[in-house]
Amino acid sequence: MKRFSYASHLECSRCGRKGDVSKRTQTCACGSPMWVRYDLPGIASAVTKEEVASRPQNLWRYHEWLPVADPASIVSLHESMTPLIPLSQSGADMDIDNLIVKDEGVLPSGTFKARGASVGISKAKELGVEALAIPTNGNAGAAWALYAARAGIRATVIMPDSAPMAPRKECVIAGAELYVISGTIGDAGRIVARACAKHGWYDVSTLKEPFRLEGKKTMGLEIAEQFGWSVPDVIVYPTGGGAGVIGIYKGLRELQEMGWIGPKLPRIAIVQAEGCAPLVRAFNQGDEVSQEWKDPHTVAFGMRVPKALGDFLILDVLRQTGGAAITVTDQELTQERAATVARDGLHVCPEGAAALAGARKLRASGYIKEGERVLVMNTGSGLKYVDQIEQAGIPLELEAVL
Ligand SMILES: *Cc1c(COP(=O)(O)O)cnc(C)c1O
Ligand SMILES: [Zn+2]
Repeated sequence: MKRFSYASHLECSRCGRKGDVSKRTQTCACGSPMWVRYDLPGIASAVTKEEVASRPQNLWRYHEWLPVADPASIVSLHESMTPLIPLSQSGADMDIDNLIVKDEGVLPSGTFKARGASVGISKAKELGVEALAIPTNGNAGAAWALYAARAGIRATVIMPDSAPMAPRKECVIAGAELYVISGTIGDAGRIVARACAKHGWYDVSTLKEPFRLEGKKTMGLEIAEQFGWSVPDVIVYPTGGGAGVIGIYKGLRELQEMGWIGPKLPRIAIVQAEGCAPLVRAFNQGDEVSQEWKDPHTVAFGMRVPKALGDFLILDVLRQTGGAAITVTDQELTQERAATVARDGLHVCPEGAAALAGARKLRASGYIKEGERVLVMNTGSGLKYVDQIEQAGIPLELEAVL
């Protein structure tokens, strides 16, 4: 009989220890993230590309590749497939012939964090979770607050007080308990860990439970399907905690193992802000893990992560795919954002703008070659960051326009 999910077990990403996919799980005893593993041959014999193509255009079309066993557990706000938008003007300006943006800004809550929240909350509901806590730079908290509200799960959100106003207010209006702290997302994570230990809440920090990543993975599945079950030459991702990059790679590898895409994988390039670049530093030094970044600062808040739990996994993705890691300054990304909206009409978020500025640099350095298909992830809507735009119009004096 066909199953809704073909998740078979959990497996530690470092020591290989196995776990039960139907149990509430945090990290492995060794402290590392747990992967969700699947019966991939089972999926290949249960479903065809044509059947997937005929399904509703949201991430649940990939339910065989997701850990939720019972469709009744799904908590969804229609996480739509996100569009591929060619940026011809910006591409010409960067000398990239084939510059395409995947626009995650159209998702519920306006960022790709909705993917992790929909799958993570659905699985939490299936496991009977009643209360959870999450540290966030803003966008994850906002997304989890929405889906927790929909699921009737109590959410406690811990956020740096320097986070933008939009996600702060989104948490409040969704009924989450929002606490702001002076400190980084790393400090917020330490508070969440202690609070969860004390109250028995579920800790849904990036990669501290295995299911949120599976939602992010749907970006990889979707990219392959949208490219006609093939892949672009290069994917550029604005990286903080790294679940986006790890998820995309995991999705592509699973499709590859099933024979749904060929042996070629995209080269995955990460972009970080010059004021917070622990992964770029580690990659350039040839290190296996990153060191905590002191005094992180950038206006691209989603990338302000001083130390990623999955750092060794991100660095591995870069090395496996012939990837790259570069930084951009806040000035470069701010300029790129304004220029992109003005040239191509796409209002990218600062993180997406960082990825575009990174693509520009990777082309200039020759890493991106002539004619290559370059997919840049715009991880959220620029509307979540309108407070960063300084100009707010000219007071009208009628003589000026009449
Ligand atoms: C969280 C976030 C990122 C960083 O993504 P990771 O998966 O944590 O590396 C980038 N952009 C935006 C808008 C985000 O909210
Ligand atoms: Zn382990």
